[in-house]
Amino acid sequence: TFEVCLRYIPGIGAVNGGAALVSLTDITEREQASQMRRDFVANVSHELRTPLTALMGFIETLRGPARDDATARERFLEIMQGEANRMNRLVGDLLSLNRVESEERVRPREQLDLGAHLASTLKSVEPVAQAKEVSLALEVPQTPTLVTGDPDQLQQVFTNLVENAIKYGGNQVLVRLSLSDRDPAVRAAAVRVQVIDNGAGIDPIHLPRLTERFYRVDTHRSREQGGTGLGLAIVKHIVNRHRGRMRVESSADKGTTFTVILPR
Ligand code: ADP
Repeated sequence: TFEVCLRYIPGIGAVNGGAALVSLTDITEREQASQMRRDFVANVSHELRTPLTALMGFIETLRGPARDDATARERFLEIMQGEANRMNRLVGDLLSLNRVESEERVRPREQLDLGAHLASTLKSVEPVAQAKEVSLALEVPQTPTLVTGDPDQLQQVFTNLVENAIKYGGNQVLVRLSLSDRDPAVRAAAVRVQVIDNGAGIDPIHLPRLTERFYRVDTHRSREQGGTGLGLAIVKHIVNRHRGRMRVESSADKGTTFTVILPR
């Protein structure tokens, strides 16, 4: 897309003592950015409106037909709490995304032992895994693997990836969190973390769009699992902030592997 600007400059050229100047500016990027902003606002509004509409409906029912029905009231209040929690998670994820996007140019400086870090990440998701009968395995080298990073953000990356494997893999799957600094495919100065599940997998047509904000393979399932559709977008920005790379491989029956490469 081009913006055309036509100006008349008096005093130069031959036409009536002046010249016409035409300039073309490529505004494709500017247009794309404003389209993305509009899409984002539309998505956020939609995501907030869904639980809000449910809340308004239940308030109405509680003030009307269900006013004197104690059992119905209890059930409705529980659903309302779930919807309010969902809005809270969405706002939390929006704030996280906003923070990591604005920090993207600032490199984190803290040194940490990634192996120990992954062990504590895995501990924190144990209750979620137990509830779904999912087994967790940690594979880390014996010696410390030092990387420079932001501990909270790295914890968020691996928690998100492991929780996704638990949420979407299906019941009784095995989720492995594996750290390697010796893989021949990896540059000497990099470490590789993989989150591997043997669950339901993702149809390859979805893979290129997986880290887009609000992109879900199955919207109903994501909502049911408490997803906001922002998890992998946050993960991608944190990995970028650490000058890392991420890739995903998946096949419908074998499960999914997310790989994060971080510089040392
Ligand atoms: P959500 O908040 O919906 O979990 P994410 O951005 O974290 O959003 O993930 C995007 C989508 O990718 C999910 O809705 C889910 O469909 C799919 N997904 C992510 N990880 C896995 C996995 N390990 N196995 C199967 N599907 C996955």
